[in-house]
This record gives sequence, C-alpha cells and structure tokens, in this order.
Amino acid sequence: MGPRWLPLLGQLLLLQPPGSRAAGPIRVFVVPHSHMDVGWVYTVQESMRAYAANVYTSVVAELTSRPQRRFIAVEQEFFRLWWTSVASEKQKHQVHQLLKKGHLEFVLGGQVMHDEAVTHLDDQILQLTEGHGFLYETFGIRPQFSWHVDPFGASATTPTLFALAGFNAHLISRIDYDLKEAMQEAQGLQFVWRGSKSLSAQQQIFTHVMDQFSYCTPSQLSFSNRSGFYWNGVAVFPEPPPDGVYPNMSEPVTPANIDLYAKELVANVKQRAAWFQTPYILWPWGCDKQFFNASVQFANMDPLLDHINSRSQELGVSVEYATLGDYFRALHALNISWAVYNHHDFLPYSSEPFAAWTGFYTSRSMLKGMARRASALLYAGESMFTRYMWPVPHGALDPTWALQQLQQLRWAVSEVQHHDAITGTESPKVRDMYMEHLATGMQGVRKIMSSIVLDKFQLRMTARAAESEVWSEPGSNPRPDGYSASVYNPLAWTVTTIVTLTIHFPRVSVTDEMGHPVPAQIQNSTKDLSAYDLLILSVIPGLSYRHYRVMPTTEAQEATTMATTLRFKSKLRRHSSSQKKRLVTMANDCYTVQFDQDTNLMHSIWERESNRTVPLTQEFLEYHANGDVHQGPISDNYKFTANKTAVPAWKTVVMEIVRGKLVTEVRQYFYRNTTAQNYTFAIHSRLAHVSSDPDQELLCHRIEQKYRVGPLELNREAILRTSSDINNQKLIYSDNNGYQMQRRPYQAFVNNVISRVTHLATHCTLPHAA
Ligand SMILES: [Zn+2]
Repeated sequence: MGPRWLPLLGQLLLLQPPGSRAAGPIRVFVVPHSHMDVGWVYTVQESMRAYAANVYTSVVAELTSRPQRRFIAVEQEFFRLWWTSVASEKQKHQVHQLLKKGHLEFVLGGQVMHDEAVTHLDDQILQLTEGHGFLYETFGIRPQFSWHVDPFGASATTPTLFALAGFNAHLISRIDYDLKEAMQEAQGLQFVWRGSKSLSAQQQIFTHVMDQFSYCTPSQLSFSNRSGFYWNGVAVFPEPPPDGVYPNMSEPVTPANIDLYAKELVANVKQRAAWFQTPYILWPWGCDKQFFNASVQFANMDPLLDHINSRSQELGVSVEYATLGDYFRALHALNISWAVYNHHDFLPYSSEPFAAWTGFYTSRSMLKGMARRASALLYAGESMFTRYMWPVPHGALDPTWALQQLQQLRWAVSEVQHHDAITGTESPKVRDMYMEHLATGMQGVRKIMSSIVLDKFQLRMTARAAESEVWSEPGSNPRPDGYSASVYNPLAWTVTTIVTLTIHFPRVSVTDEMGHPVPAQIQNSTKDLSAYDLLILSVIPGLSYRHYRVMPTTEAQEATTMATTLRFKSKLRRHSSSQKKRLVTMANDCYTVQFDQDTNLMHSIWERESNRTVPLTQEFLEYHANGDVHQGPISDNYKFTANKTAVPAWKTVVMEIVRGKLVTEVRQYFYRNTTAQNYTFAIHSRLAHVSSDPDQELLCHRIEQKYRVGPLELNREAILRTSSDINNQKLIYSDNNGYQMQRRPYQAFVNNVISRVTHLATHCTLPHAA
C-alpha cells in the first residue's frame, strides 16, 4: 500500500469501520447492459450491421414479452441510428411503453462515453447535450445516472459536470489497480465526490467505483470451459452468422447444470459483497458488444434467477433484474452517511504493475489536433449563425441547410470524444472514419461562415473567418487587389491576440474597417518556402468581428515591415559554453528570454514583475519503449512502458532569430547527427511585443512555444525536457480538461517509477476562440 490513498482511507475508516454491514440476505441487482464502443476496432456502420442494431431490436422485444426484465441503454449514437433508420413504428411505441414502466432506462445519455483525460470540458458538454437533447425531445427524459465504466482513468471534472447536468449518481471503474484493491478492503468503493475545489459541496455527487470485476460478468465458469453468462456468444463481423450460431456461446442452463450456475453466481456475489458497506450488490450482466441476441440471454438467465430466489433463505442471496436507477434508488433509501472524497482525481491510470495508461495522451496527435480545430470551428460557426439569425436573418443563407451543416459537425465532434476515439486507441480504419466525419462537417460549417460574412458585409473579395487563427485554404491565390480577412471572436469578452495569415506577396499594408493601419508583421513562412506569414495584432470585442484589408504595396508605399532573420552557426550538443556568455535576447514588457549563442539553447528567463531570473536548460530526449511482449506490458497506443530512462536524441542544433515589430521568434532545429539533412525536432519560441496594460496583459504574459517532432524510429517516445532550478517541492499543477487546475503532489510508487511519472507531460488544451 503506497502513501497515495492513506488520506482517503483515513476518511473512510472514520465514518464506516469495515465489517459494519447490516444483517440480512444479500440483495443482488442484476443490471443487463451492452458496452458499445462508438468506433474502436470497427466503424460505426460495421458495428451497426454486426451487432448494434440487433441489440435494440432484440432487447425491446424481450423486455416487452416479460415484465420483470430490465435493460440500460448507454451510448446514444447507436441508439439514435437504430431509432431513425431501423426501428418500426411498433418498436418505437414499445420503447415509449418500456421507458414509462422503467423497464428500459437511459443512463449517461451522451452521444458517446467520453474520454476523461484528453478531452476538453466544452466538448464533453457538447456530446452530453447532443445525446440528452435527443432524449428530451423524443421522450421527455433526462438521464439521472452516469455509467462511465470504460474511460481510462477518472477526472475530477466529470463528477462536477455530471452534478451540474442534473445526475443523481456517478459510476466509474478504471482507477489504479492497487488503489482499487485497497478501497475494496476498506469497503470504500462508494463515496461522495466533491470534484471541484471551488464548488465543493454545492456540486458533489455520490460515486460508485466498480469493483475488480468492472463492467463485465465474470467470464470463467469453474464447471465449464465456456465463458460465463454470455449465452449469445461473441459478436461476429462483418455480418451476423446466418445460422445464428455464434462463437463461445455459454452452455445453456438446463436442470442438470442449473445448480452449478447458481453456485457460481452466488459465490461471485458473496466475494464482492465483502467489499461493500451495504448488502446491496450491483451485478452488471454484460460486456462489450453483448445482447445482440437478448432472447437467448434472458431465456437462460430467467430460470437461473428464479432458481436462486427459490432457495434464497438457504443461499443468503436474493436476485432481481434492475436498472442502474433501481440500484441507486434502493441504496439511497438506506439513508447511509457516506465518506467524502475531495477534488483529487484518478489520473493517470495503471491497470496492473508496469501498465501505465499514459501512452494515449499523445497517440494519434493528428486526430487530436483535428478534433480540437473542429470543435473550435463548431463553436465559432454556431455563435456566428446565432448572431446572423438574431433578431431577424438577413441575406441569402438558408437556415435549414445551415442547421444541417452545424448538426453534422456537432455529431462528428461528439463522436470523436469517445474513449477509443480522441485517445488515439482505435484501429486505422476507424481513425479514418472519425477524420472523414470531422472534415465533412468542417467543410459545411466553413461554407456557412463564408456565406454569412459575404452576405452581411457584401465583400466581393475572398472572405475568410475564423476563431483563434484565421484559417486559410492552402493553395488559394490572392486576387490582384489583395485579401479581406474577417476574424470572429465567439467568446463573450474582448480578446487581444495575434492572427496569422499565409499570403503570397512580401510587401503588404494592413488596414481595419476604418482604413486605419493595423500593427502587423511579415516574415518567411516555415511551412511553405514560397509563402509568407502575415501576423496581425487583433483586438476583438466579445461576439464581434474585425475586418482587415490586406493589400499588396509597391516599394514606394508605406508597408508592413518584414522581420529580419539572423541565423546562427550549428552547434554540437556537447559544446560547452564559454565563461563569458554571448546571449541573444527576446524581450517584451513582461519577460526577457535569453538564448546562449555558444550552445544555441535557452539560457534563462527574467520576469519583470518579480524581478527574478530563472536559469533553464533544454534537452530533446527519447525513451526506448518496450515492444517485446516477453518483457511485460508493451508500450502501445494505450500504455507507455519505457525500458529505461530517456537518452538525448540529437547531435547538433541550429538557431535563428526572427525579429519584427510585433513579435520576436527564436527557432531551434535539432538534428539527429552531424550529417543529417533534415531536422528531427524543432522549437519555435515566441514573444509578442505588447505592453502589460490590462487589455494586453494575457498576451504579454505568454511565452508561446510550438514543437515539431519526427519522424521517430519505431518504439521511441520523444520528450522535450526544459529544466529550471525552481524548487517546487515535488508539486505541480496541471490542467484538468480546461476546467480547473489540478494539484499533483509527487507520488512514490513501489514499482513502475518511470511510467507513472509521465503524466507530467500531459495534454495541452487549445483555446477555443480568439
Ligand atoms: Zn469502451
């Protein structure tokens, strides 16, 4: 037992000593469910064909035929596809009836079961709203309980969000294996979670952590070599088998084996009952892609439950089908005081020794980046469309068409929040599906925004609009008379930012709506050698546009000045700096950042406010990740498993400094060896020359760094290590879904030291708007 959970266990033990359980038989709530990943290995369409549609078709029929049966429906993407493209009017009527009686229950109700580690709060809300909106409009229902059984770790944002969304209880499963074990022993798997330090008890929620069996039924039967309690077997792709015979179907329940099945179930219940404070046990019945043949499932479980109940006294157990709501309501009625868990989270997550699930924080960075950009575009598009429609729409844009475009992107952005989507843990074809859905959605929303801008401002020239950066279509040529750029701020407050446009002429003038010149800078593009980056200082009030004219100029005319680029000689990694430092500086009103000409590396940062200088060192390193299954868990899209500590991964570094009126940028290019033609890593550090006045303060206080990495060799994990002499007492604060900062003290683990500390390199969150 490590020190990590001692405070929690301390609290739990104070309130409820283990073993203080109420007497009486164990009441088992058998909750039938199917975990239906929106993507992962198979595309949504493949999943619909192979099993997902059959889950709802067969479950609705089976629940309708016997009133004691129950089922919980979770991910709305599959349910909605079934509802709109498969369900008959009769089946729809049956669903309404089952919901009314409480035999079918929607839990969670999001479009997907979102990932908790790498998603942004706004996108979590979006996907939840998307699913809940459908349920409310269609059935007048708002889900009351969460079912977060599979996300890879649990964030403290989630209980807060779910409390705010009106949920009455939260359910999670994937937390550290050793912590779970300790919580089981202390009967501490249920508690009240106060996920937000500032909201505290105002938005607390009762939380149930699933025990070590998690959301699947025990899969081993001691009397049979077939799987346990999965009488319909395992789903078959691409189509269901025509004869209805699936692999690994459990032995049918017969008079000959019913006692063995009953003993198995009761023994499992009793094992689990020891881990909970009350004799009420949640027994999830299902697993991934289950209940595609609900008929055979219930036909076997019905007699088994009847058999146990007929011997309830003797077995000390009673069993009943239940929804999640039935279980939580029964537990609530016991009126127990629960321990309080504060705003700590359960990230990062380890499923076993040497299996730290931190690999997915960076897996498939292209998809992650696209998901963020799509989300930013969606918010800008929705906000702009709302402004266009209010108080009355003006112009040629068809609102119905526009809403369809927005809906398409809402669906795509919701879908990619799934715990096997934005995490980068899906198969390549499923990644392609997510990216295609995002690209199509983005294209539609760009059309809306262009149309609104053209309509509203009657611009004849190429109009462009965006959220934080002006997006440009690659390869688009400027008209002879230049560009018009429209920048939109979907936030409610004024934002000062630098907008970057790619243009194809070096001498320009930039003016605003009034014809006044705007601070801007032009420099060679690092992406396209024949192009230029135009940087414009943009101050945009909340929910407003700014329009700029970008005109080519002749030499005689006043123009935006070109930044000067100074390139320094290549330096070897081991090059020691001379005693007398030759330093290159970039500075604004808030910071002076210094680079050492003798090493081409960052030297120090001086902060004006505190008058403090922090010396720094920079290093690009690589971990050799374990790719050999014989040496324990391998490093993959989910897990990060290093063989040993990181080693430097470059030999020479080239530096250049780009000085302009608006921005100074230092670019460092790291080469793997002295003869390499292309660099492997690059850092662009940027400081804007703005003042520390309140309206520019945020930009002034931002030292921006952009990184470029790759290509990497197989089984390598790259890191950039920036070290300082700041003594942080082994304490860091990291971002929590863009919602709050999470205090993270150092945790000492008995094993797995390297892997578990990698959460220091957590995800970055991009702002949604300019
Ligand atoms: Zn899953």
